[in-house]
Amino acid sequence: MQNDVVAQVYPWQQIVWDTLTGRFPKLGHGLLFYGKKGCGKEAFAQYFLAWVLCANRHANNAPCGECGSCLWLKSDTHPNYVHISTDEENKKQNAKIKIEKIRDLLPFVQQTVDGWRVIVIEPAEALNMSSANALLKTLEEPGDRVVIILLADHYLKLPATIRSRLQHFALDRISEAQAGEYLSEHLPNLDQTQKQLLLNLSNQMPLQAMQLAQAEWLNKRQEFLNDWQKLVTQKNMPMAIATKWNKALNFSDFAQMFEYLLSDLICVKLNQQVKNPDLDLSVLSEQYTLEFLFTIYSDLQQSKRFIEQNVQSNLVLDQLCIKLMNI
Ligand SMILES: [Zn+2]
Repeated sequence: MQNDVVAQVYPWQQIVWDTLTGRFPKLGHGLLFYGKKGCGKEAFAQYFLAWVLCANRHANNAPCGECGSCLWLKSDTHPNYVHISTDEENKKQNAKIKIEKIRDLLPFVQQTVDGWRVIVIEPAEALNMSSANALLKTLEEPGDRVVIILLADHYLKLPATIRSRLQHFALDRISEAQAGEYLSEHLPNLDQTQKQLLLNLSNQMPLQAMQLAQAEWLNKRQEFLNDWQKLVTQKNMPMAIATKWNKALNFSDFAQMFEYLLSDLICVKLNQQVKNPDLDLSVLSEQYTLEFLFTIYSDLQQSKRFIEQNVQSNLVLDQLCIKLMNI
C-alpha cells in the first residue's frame, strides 16, 4: 500500500470498524471497502488487515504492534499479505491491473498455512475484464482463512459479477460537522471561508481537503481567472498565456483548477451553488453560453487524454486557450 498511509480508523469509520471486528470471522471471503477519494479507506484497510493478521487479535481491540505479524507488516515483508495494484511505473488514470497478477494469487490462496491470509486489491476499478474474471474464480473457491479486500472510489464501476460476490462497506459516510471538525483540528489557522472552500472542492472528504490545502493552484485561481478574462476581452495572446500557465503549474494541477472553475461557471449559469465561494465568476460567466461552456468542458476532458498519450502540455494548453478566446 502507499507508504504515506498511516493505518488507522477515522472517527467516521468507527461504526464500520465495530461491525467488521464484531462479526469476524463470520464475514464473506471478499470485502469491498468503498468511498470517495479522501475518505481514508486505504488507512482503514491497512488497520483492518493488521488486526486480522495480528497474533493477539481480540474483538474491537487494536493490532498489538508487537507480535511477529505486526512486525512483519511494519517491515513490509509479511508472508501472508499480498497487495495488488497497477504497475508502479504506470500511474496513469486508465492503468489496469494485469491478469497475471490475479492468476499469481492462486497458489497463495490455495496453500495451507497457519493463520490468516489477506489480499488487498486497489484500485478495484483498475481490474479489466480478464483480470476481473480471473478474480471471480478466486472468490468462488478461496482457501480457509483468506480475506480478499477490494478498495474502490466508485463501486458502480466494478463489474456486477464481482460486486455481487463481495460484502460492501461504505467508508465515506461523513457528516458536515465531522468533516469540519477534522479540518479545524488539523488546520487550525483556516478561516471559515477557506474551510468551506476546501470542503466544497473535496466533496466533504477531510483527507482530500487536507491535500488540497497544500495544492499550489489553490492560490492561483484568481490570477488564472484574470488571464482568462483577458483572453475573452482582448482576444489575443493565447500563446503567451498558455506558455505562462504551462510554466506555472504542471498539467494535472492546471487541469484540476480549470475544471473546478469551469464547473462553477456552469453552476452560475444554472443558478446553482458554486464551489469557489471566494471568487467572483459572474462577469466571466456572462461571456459564454451554457452550451459553449459544456464544449469547453469536453475539450478539457479530451486534453487530459492527449496528455496521457504524451502530447506535449504546451500544445494542449495552446489549444485550450484558443478555445477560451473564440466565443
Ligand atoms: Zn500483533
